[in-house]
Amino acid sequence: MIQTVRGVHDILPVETPLWQLLEARALAIFGQYGFAEIRTPLFEKTELFARAVGAATDIVEKEMYTFADRGGDSLSLRPEGTASVVRTFVQQSMHRQLPWKVWYRGPMFRYERPQKGRQRQFHQIGCELFGPAGPLADAELMAMVMRYLTDLGLQASLVLEINSLGCPDCRAPYRDLLIATLRTLVAHLCEDCQNRIERNPLRVLDCKRENCRATLANAPSMLDHLCAGCANHFSSLKTHLNHLGIPYRVNPFMVRGLDYYNRTAFEVTSTGLGAQNAVAAGGRYDGLVAQMGGTSTPAIGFAMGMERLVLLLNRETTLPSSTDVFLATLGERGENAGLLLAEAIRKEGLAVELNLSGGSLKSQMKRADRSKARFALMLGDTEIEKNVVIVKDMTLGQQQEIRWSEAPVFLANLCRVGP
Ligand code: ATP
Ligand code: MG
Repeated sequence: MIQTVRGVHDILPVETPLWQLLEARALAIFGQYGFAEIRTPLFEKTELFARAVGAATDIVEKEMYTFADRGGDSLSLRPEGTASVVRTFVQQSMHRQLPWKVWYRGPMFRYERPQKGRQRQFHQIGCELFGPAGPLADAELMAMVMRYLTDLGLQASLVLEINSLGCPDCRAPYRDLLIATLRTLVAHLCEDCQNRIERNPLRVLDCKRENCRATLANAPSMLDHLCAGCANHFSSLKTHLNHLGIPYRVNPFMVRGLDYYNRTAFEVTSTGLGAQNAVAAGGRYDGLVAQMGGTSTPAIGFAMGMERLVLLLNRETTLPSSTDVFLATLGERGENAGLLLAEAIRKEGLAVELNLSGGSLKSQMKRADRSKARFALMLGDTEIEKNVVIVKDMTLGQQQEIRWSEAPVFLANLCRVGP
């Protein structure tokens, strides 16, 4: 038997309604803020990710699915969505039509160690906003994320964390200071952190190991070393969030794993997910468009992990049944008439499951139960002689005979009113 690749999962029909819910709410809510959907390719030139995400990041160093195509070009499955969107922005000269607001959804690929909430093919919904440089955009984007998550009923378990990563001007001296401090602590840090000191020192702050966290408790904070422009940006962002009544926590240890971020970084974490607790992550990347060869344009974006949202939703959501009517048939005449009656009822907009595999009335009624249909219909020789169908209300347990020709409209009216 051939199975799925490790860290890669089917999304089964019992789960897809939750995924569709996540996507439908994204379409509706992001639309309220002026975002339109973009669909970029699942694979790109490897160079795009190396340049946009950063050659020294875990993603590019260790996690990409990279292959040579038959023409010899090095291609990679996308590990994240921002690089492609920025490529599109530059390729289509979108700087002429600012602001440009897009959202995307779909699979991403990273060769990581699979665990609960961490897969090799996973899915993100994300947004990117190009043009505005000020903290107003940051605040509105966070308001949108929180509105989306609140609309899904998830706000209770969620915390919005914010930080500032400064800009190239203030980060460079801070980085030197941090490296100097980390060198004095090197003996107390884990091996990963030791390796990161020179290459990606900010990432050390983000280490999840208890020992490293304790060691770093008094490490210098970016927030204490922001230049005036970055400090103003951060303080205005907090003022806007206060005005909006959006609770947040300042977390000076939160840094993003990707090189391209500057100034505002944010994350939404959940108390309900264990170790893989980040549901959404994002931040400003004002330098990326220019770095990718475009006309310098500030931008901010975020991405949410759909698997993690589904894990949270699974606990808190019960979805309504997708079947309105189960149609049980007896005998060949019943089956033939049922095929037509089911069509007539669907034409009224209802979802009908027609029994397609024979069986006794008893076994069919069991199937009707399992389908969670509101109504079960029974159609056999007796009913056909009389031009009627038996309609059983599965919630009330009552049944009645309805004329064949009237059944579709009769059922549609009842279903429209609700149980
Ligand atoms: P983490 O700290 O969990 O590794 P990250 O910093 O790598 O996350 P981003 O690259 O910013 O995360 O991606 C945004 C979101 O996508 C994460 O907050 C998470 O919800 C989700 N995500 C990232 N990697 C995975 C994965 N391998 N499997 C499932 N979801 C993921
Ligand atoms: Mg990661």
